[in-house]
Amino acid sequence: MSNPSRLSALVTGGSRGIGAAVAKRLAADGYSVLLTYVTKPDEAQAVAAHILADGGEAQALPLDVSDREAVAAFFKKHIEGHVELEVLVNNAGITKDGLLVRMKDEEWDRVIAVNLTGAFACLREAAKLMMKRRRGRIVNIVSVVGQSGNAGQANYVAAKAGLIGLTKTAALELAPRGVTVNAVAPGFIESDMTAVLPDAVKQAFLEQIPLKRMGTPEDVASAVAYLASPEAAYVTGQVLSVNGGLYR
Ligand code: NAP
Repeated sequence: MSNPSRLSALVTGGSRGIGAAVAKRLAADGYSVLLTYVTKPDEAQAVAAHILADGGEAQALPLDVSDREAVAAFFKKHIEGHVELEVLVNNAGITKDGLLVRMKDEEWDRVIAVNLTGAFACLREAAKLMMKRRRGRIVNIVSVVGQSGNAGQANYVAAKAGLIGLTKTAALELAPRGVTVNAVAPGFIESDMTAVLPDAVKQAFLEQIPLKRMGTPEDVASAVAYLASPEAAYVTGQVLSVNGGLYR
């Protein structure tokens, strides 16, 4: 049963990695958190259970953000008229890496569908509600490579660069209604997404990072928490890098 006095935060892909850390941090900051999953229901329920055990509020719910009808239905069923949505964190993301001359159509389409179209679908639904409330915070998780390019990630880089453009445009459209829209651009962060990289690749990254360590999901969650906080009330259309100094 949700406490109607708590404002809510929706975190897509909250079952693990950065999304799980963001969900825990926003719950600790007092939000009632809706965190979503696709393939890992047990992990998502464990994140929600962790938040509840700490005295917070959370629900883990299934949502494939690449399915626009499912996104609209999710907002009708769980958000509109049910909670006061103050924060949306578009965190859900996947990679399907390969050199562009060998990239298959489905690898391109899927990465764009999840990372860019999925964020757009959630942002559009959240924006309608937040514009009516005349307040709200939207934070899109992009990537350092969306600013620099990265060989072997044409689909992912295009999606993240597109999401930076979407962030800046949404910031302009929603500012008159008191809604801020920003992005956080992580560098090389410890999660399942980077765990699959060969050790030699990880070592090469580490050598390039001025702060000489990988980032943690909590490092990224701190930046998201700032952008969702009253301290960031006058910040919009920004890309906040959390990359240990690795600007590639
Ligand atoms: P991760 O550990 O692989 O987690 C990905 C999350 O996205 C999971 O919660 C997953 O849900 C969810 N997800 C996957 N496909 C989805 C879909 N179709 N609809 C909704 N949710 C979906 O990744 P991560 O490293 O935490 O990355 C989180 C975000 O940060 C991504 O946007 C990623 O691009 C970005 N990022 C990561 C790094 C890094 O170094 N790790 C760097 C820069 C940017 P299930 O668990 O249910 O499958």
